[in-house]
Amino acid sequence: MDHRCLMSADVLSYALVLALLSPLPVPATAPGCPTGRGTLSAAEVSGVNVLRCGLIGRAVTEGPVGALIPAPGEGVSAARTATDGGEILDLLTDPGGILNVTVNTAAGALPIGADAGCRDRTEPAVRPRAARSVSWRLNLGGGVRGLAERSIERAIAAGARNLSTGRNDCGVRGKPGFEVGYDGRTSASTHISADSGCGGRPGSNVVDVGTLRGETSLGFTCTWWRGDRFWAHMRFARDARWTTNPNSLTCAGRYDLEGVATHEWGHAAGLQHAPGRHPWLTMAPAIKPCSGYARTFSAGEAAVLRRAYPIS
Ligand SMILES: [Zn+2]
Repeated sequence: MDHRCLMSADVLSYALVLALLSPLPVPATAPGCPTGRGTLSAAEVSGVNVLRCGLIGRAVTEGPVGALIPAPGEGVSAARTATDGGEILDLLTDPGGILNVTVNTAAGALPIGADAGCRDRTEPAVRPRAARSVSWRLNLGGGVRGLAERSIERAIAAGARNLSTGRNDCGVRGKPGFEVGYDGRTSASTHISADSGCGGRPGSNVVDVGTLRGETSLGFTCTWWRGDRFWAHMRFARDARWTTNPNSLTCAGRYDLEGVATHEWGHAAGLQHAPGRHPWLTMAPAIKPCSGYARTFSAGEAAVLRRAYPIS
């Protein structure tokens, strides 16, 4: 139980829960080609034949997130996590060239009272990846103000471990069949732009620290897939107020890096944001400061991870 960081705005924000999962409808006949030359909106490319329209590689944005239109048989997911909610944009081009677009926008409530994660069996939606393991490297760039490099590295690696072990304190046993292994530092860059867009499909998995669009942004995860191959890039906001000791009595308005990393690795494994009114879930769209609850998955999350990635 952790009341120390209870904010007076919690009760108000509880009334503002909004979760919207909206697969954009694919029309019965492919719509015409969009004529604009710049960035395209999700609505104008949903259901479009991107082969016929020559749109592969063009940028699509939905609010503060964006991605490039993938080639047939490939997909990309852009997930932004902020202090007050998040957005996920999925683009999947089928083998015939039709683009399927899914937009998930969620403004979440901050949790209040005692941790109710183990009583909540709500399962966030999941889009299981075909691949079952991922090795990643870390580019710390200029680091994060106030945290030692080693602390940042440990916290993000712990978040990856929390996913691969399905860490929970709800008694859900066994582990999901999804391995995440850390291979050390790198100077390679992520394919994540400063305006929170996923660039072209990479050939390796990289996590970095950098600029994200939006003052409230904490993390951003891009996932690309093609057949049974899968790549993830992840960024933690350099300008966010982070801590690796969220339960410290002196913590004020700082976000638990390991907890947010656990959430972002959840996105990499295909977990979507939890629906509204489930604020204790790790995959809740909003994250409470000065609390480490997001390091452990809720009962429903732990169950859905094991079902999505059964040990064969
Ligand atoms: Zn998120």
